[in-house]
Amino acid sequence: MSARVLVVDDIPVNVRLLEAKLSAEYYDVITANSGAEALEIIKSEPPDIVLLDVMMPEMDGFEVCRRIKADPATALLPVIMVTALNEQSDRVTGLEAGADDFLTKPVRDLALFARLRSLLRVKMLLDELRLREETSRQMNTLRDVENRDDLLHGQRVLFVGEESTEGDLIASIFDDSSHVDKLSDSREAMKKALEQSYDIVFVSLSLSGSDPLRLCSQLRSHTETRHTPILVIVDNCEPEQVTKALDLGVSDYIMRPLDFSEARARALTQSSYRRYHEEMRSALEKSVDMAFTDGLTGLYNRRYVTRHLAGLAKDPSAEDRNIALIMVDIDHFKKVNDSYGHDVGDEVLKEISARLQLVVRGQDLASRLGGEEFLIVMTNATQENAQSVAERIRDDIASVPIKAATPEGTITVTVSVGVAMRESTSELPDRQLKRADEALYEAKRGGRDCVVIAA
Ligand code: GH3
Ligand code: MG
Ligand code: MG
Repeated sequence: MSARVLVVDDIPVNVRLLEAKLSAEYYDVITANSGAEALEIIKSEPPDIVLLDVMMPEMDGFEVCRRIKADPATALLPVIMVTALNEQSDRVTGLEAGADDFLTKPVRDLALFARLRSLLRVKMLLDELRLREETSRQMNTLRDVENRDDLLHGQRVLFVGEESTEGDLIASIFDDSSHVDKLSDSREAMKKALEQSYDIVFVSLSLSGSDPLRLCSQLRSHTETRHTPILVIVDNCEPEQVTKALDLGVSDYIMRPLDFSEARARALTQSSYRRYHEEMRSALEKSVDMAFTDGLTGLYNRRYVTRHLAGLAKDPSAEDRNIALIMVDIDHFKKVNDSYGHDVGDEVLKEISARLQLVVRGQDLASRLGGEEFLIVMTNATQENAQSVAERIRDDIASVPIKAATPEGTITVTVSVGVAMRESTSELPDRQLKRADEALYEAKRGGRDCVVIAA
């Protein structure tokens, strides 16, 4: 996985050392000699990840990290802090500043590349999702990510390990409204994970009876648990196992002896990634919905129905599809707006849409073409089917008054309906639409509140 890495250190020799290691692995390296320079570069040519020295004059690494994480535009840029000493207090300060990870000088290759790989994997995924996102929504979800503390509230947590004191420490990260299951058998854990939809999973890599790495790999391969953060707990002396685990896709690791603040910060970071990911997905689904549905009525919009018709027309099985188009237009709708206001007009549009939705069969589609005009697309329909649906629509609307904010509390409207059957498999959708429209026009001329079938 190639990526742009920004190396920040005030000592040129340190910069060159890391640059050499990274270039040898085909990473694209850019460098900065101070915090201020780093922030400039991040703004002008954003890297994929930052390796940040802690001890620097003027602005130290913690402050640089805090600034990166405080700016919504860069909050998700992964930052690895490079500390001179393996100081627990430095790690905690760094995690509180929002650092995603740590390396201790002198930097060992195994740790360096393992950390880079795992953070870059998350980063690439987020970038891809973000690309497809609208800016405003993106800002909303980012704001959510910043409010991290409620990520420890009401969580479903699975701890898989034999050390009950470790299980207790993990459980103490989350508040009382959370539910923590502690298991020591990985097979049982997998079964439970499929049933419970956990928010986060902790796995000790020193399980005696069963293979914890297999559990991690299974968790990653099932759709139900694919995106659940997994944090593995490891002994200081097993770097190969860590590399293997990261390659299998676990989210992060925590070294023994477990430190409460560090475990909590790592859990928070992974949970916020997960939440960001979920928010992105649902925003994405919503934006797809918005592109194809009408905001007022929830029916499909013109864009969608046009594509749908074009797709049907190209379908080789269209021959037996007998497509019927039913065009519905509210009569004298302008008067509703003029007499009672636009809001009453909107209520009428919504109610009529709901009634159309009830009339159409599962395989049919109801849409709002625009204004007070609707289109039903029926497939596998005979002219008799289409005519009876059209009549039912007309009758349903005319005979049941609509609740609305009028002096009477209700309003009665009628609709005119035009129906056109597809003439042959060579008839284009536009042409069939035009015939339905002409039939509708005839219904209007014929006195409204009626159905006309195109010849
Ligand atoms: P006809 O029987 O010939 O169809 O008469 P009409 O008044 O229904 O037709 P016309 O096309 O003259 O007027 C349609 C009106 O629909 C005008 C417009 O203000 C109103 N309209 C269009 N979209 C909306 C909407 O989203 N909400 C509301 N309240 N009114 C809308
Ligand atoms: Mg009308
Ligand atoms: Mg009209």
